[in-house]
Amino acid sequence: MLSGASALAEPIDADVLLQGGTIVDGTGKPGYPGDVAIKGNKIVGVGKLELGKVALTVDCKGLVIAPGFIDLHNHSDRQVIDPQTSGLVNYLTQGCTTIVTGNCGAGPVDVEEYHRKLAEAGVGANIAHLLPQGSLRSSVMGTALRDPSNEELEEMKRLTKKAMQDGAWGMSTGLIYVPGTYAKTEELIEIAKVVSQNNGIYASHIRNEGTNLLAAVDEALRIGKEAELPVHISHFKYSGRDAWGLVRRAVEQIETARAQGQVATADQYPYIASSTSLDATIIPTWALAGGRKALIERLDDPKQGARIRQTMTENLKKRN
Ligand SMILES: [Zn+2]
Repeated sequence: MLSGASALAEPIDADVLLQGGTIVDGTGKPGYPGDVAIKGNKIVGVGKLELGKVALTVDCKGLVIAPGFIDLHNHSDRQVIDPQTSGLVNYLTQGCTTIVTGNCGAGPVDVEEYHRKLAEAGVGANIAHLLPQGSLRSSVMGTALRDPSNEELEEMKRLTKKAMQDGAWGMSTGLIYVPGTYAKTEELIEIAKVVSQNNGIYASHIRNEGTNLLAAVDEALRIGKEAELPVHISHFKYSGRDAWGLVRRAVEQIETARAQGQVATADQYPYIASSTSLDATIIPTWALAGGRKALIERLDDPKQGARIRQTMTENLKKRN
């Protein structure tokens, strides 16, 4: 459509002309030299253009002109609503014009309020938010290490429906983190069904990225299948020497699911390190139930304390 417009002899007036760059248009075809003309908030010409009046020309020689990047895995939920950082200059200067928040099960649950704060802060990029299941569970049942009652499950489903209707793009889980990790697969499926009914996706920091990687990928795919919604696996990897090689089989799992018609995707870091909190990876999750005070009491208890310390030592070894 746009190249059609440029083929017309009618000269194009533009507020801004990006001139002489290499255009990478996002369709997958190789980059090609050309201009991009912008009028108001619309792109009015791409390629070799017949130009009319141009208010501002930006020389793009040696530069790439591309659609804004989407930062699919972002944790700046607080910074995007903080007026000191909400301009998001750091993302914009890297080419990211849309960022996805609410990842790994943590972030704002009240999407209506979050959107209002984004507007108030004058956020500098587009924000697509995922309802974070860990924070959702925490808002209804704290850090209790048990299944939800019927009432609690219904309340989580009600809040999920509200979040989706307020504009969430789906739900995220962080199944190594407290309290998201306390949810069994069946509980997640029940909530994911509400997300599915509202056309959302399921994005997951899966339950294990070490020697139980394959079971964790299976769980994510099962949730997608039973709740009938697209599955996205976040920061797809294996972690730790004992899991070396497993990721190839995990790729096969995803490819098989896709071949069977399931919508399943994954993203990956472009480097070999990862980052998370120390307590999430070192302290056993059962020890964190009920909060910090309960953890300290357990650490002071001779039996439980010894068990926690032993597991912490084992977990440290696994990180090598
Ligand atoms: Zn994560």
